[in-house]
Amino acid sequence: MAVVQRPIGIDELVKDFREVVGPDNVLVGRAEQAAYENDAYPLERALPACIVLPGSTDEVISIVKACASADIPFSPRGAGTGLAGGTIIGNGVSIVLSRMNKILEIDVRNRRMTAEAGVVNVMLSKAVVNNALCFAPDPSSQGACTIGGNISNNAGGPHTLKYGVTVNHLVSVDIVLPDGELITVGDKTEDVNGYDLLGIICGGEGTLGIVTRATVRLTAVPDAVETLLVIFDSISNATHAVSAIISSGITPAALEMMDREIVKTVEDAFHFGFPRDAEAILIVEIDGMAAGLHRQIDTIRTLCEAHNAREVRQAATTLERANIWSARKKAIGTLGRSSPGIVTQDGVIPRSKLPEVLAEITQIGEKYGLRIANVFHAGDGNLHPAVLFDPEIPGEVDRVLSANHEILKLCLKHGGTLTGEHGVGIEKRDYMPLLFPPATLDTMWKVRSCFNPDDLCNPGKVLPTSHGCSYEFGGRTKGAAS
Ligand SMILES: Cc1cc2nc3c(=O)[nH]c(=O)nc-3n(C[C@H](O)[C@H](O)[C@H](O)COP(=O)(O)OP(=O)(O)OC[C@H]3O[C@@H](n4cnc5c(N)ncnc54)[C@H](O)[C@@H]3O)c2cc1C
Repeated sequence: MAVVQRPIGIDELVKDFREVVGPDNVLVGRAEQAAYENDAYPLERALPACIVLPGSTDEVISIVKACASADIPFSPRGAGTGLAGGTIIGNGVSIVLSRMNKILEIDVRNRRMTAEAGVVNVMLSKAVVNNALCFAPDPSSQGACTIGGNISNNAGGPHTLKYGVTVNHLVSVDIVLPDGELITVGDKTEDVNGYDLLGIICGGEGTLGIVTRATVRLTAVPDAVETLLVIFDSISNATHAVSAIISSGITPAALEMMDREIVKTVEDAFHFGFPRDAEAILIVEIDGMAAGLHRQIDTIRTLCEAHNAREVRQAATTLERANIWSARKKAIGTLGRSSPGIVTQDGVIPRSKLPEVLAEITQIGEKYGLRIANVFHAGDGNLHPAVLFDPEIPGEVDRVLSANHEILKLCLKHGGTLTGEHGVGIEKRDYMPLLFPPATLDTMWKVRSCFNPDDLCNPGKVLPTSHGCSYEFGGRTKGAAS
């Protein structure tokens, strides 16, 4: 990322920040800066000038106003689990919301909850577990990521297939605009009047302002849940089974796939008893009224067997079900045991293209001599090829970038998109002209400029800059890592 020298020294700003949030909540040392130089996207990094941790909306307003008047760029940050480099802010101010972690109101009768932006996703559901309610979006990172980050990236998760993504569960936000003004968007009722600003802010990737609190919908925990683990000797058979399940009219709560590389790694880490020689495992979960589930299980079992499933296991206890989900949700993390570097892609393709696209991804891995592991939301066609690499090996990062480039173009070639849930960030920004014509990108820039006219709030993310009257594809295939 380019290093921008600003005429105003950061020192005065740091002094201001210390007065606003207290000295302990402003970090400026080299080690602290290094801790915030990237997020979970490992191929870009840049040192922020300072890190500031506000404790309230008023403090966020003061910080943003100070940055705006000093003409210093800033970037909101939650837990830093983003996979697209959305929090990187070289020589700017990283505004970290993690201290703003209070649940402010639980309204069980209306199934609403209001929370500060730094509340960790899983805490929302934990807070209403005794009311048989939950916050449905469940990213695999839910033990760490924040609701502010979920809103900004419009996060999904395994249960997105049936329950939808964050925007489907969001009713209002308080957002500090890039000039420091606070507005509330949406309200606690069901209807949006006027323009749907909430729909723009959700997925705005921190380029439209800083969300400081949110009111979300709460979802009833289903009456009954059944979880199947279906083992296949061929990826192609597993992907055809996915299409068969969806076309049967059943909407599983979740329909996830893990390939052999992932199964082996997870088994090495946790010893759950998954067959290491399986080429693919599907996790199929259905939920609803207990009475109707058995018929659906029979149908799913029949469809999987018709596609040569080796075995269909049904979780018999809550612990077995928890183990299956633990394996799925920790899968990417366990890859770290065998690989120092991981880049996880997020392209979406039509489900019917899964067999050929997965085969082509394998070929891309072979072409570049890279291991690629797949664990993904098969029911949504949302791929997560995890490209494994060692940054210390000369030339390996360049090969990763080339492989990523081919995978993204492959998704687009098959009528897909660049991202299902991780966001565009820095990582995929330069690919946007391959997906959208200039007039659409211009319109997106105009919308962004209404919120963020000076582009101080999270610059360099989501939208490429135009070259005269056009946008050129600028996806780098070499040398991005520092
Ligand atoms: C192992 C692993 C598994 C994952 N699984 C999933 C998954 O299943 N589904 C999924 O959708 N994602 C997944 N992710 C990606 C990531 O966890 C999500 O994108 C998550 O929503 C990011 O939340 P965060 O708090 O970490 O945000 P950060 O990484 O801190 O920030 C993400 C983006 O949001 C912006 N932002 C953060 N807070 C605010 C705020 N308060 N106001 C305005 N903008 C803000 C940042 O500027 C940045 O652009 C996974 C990541 C990892 C590492």
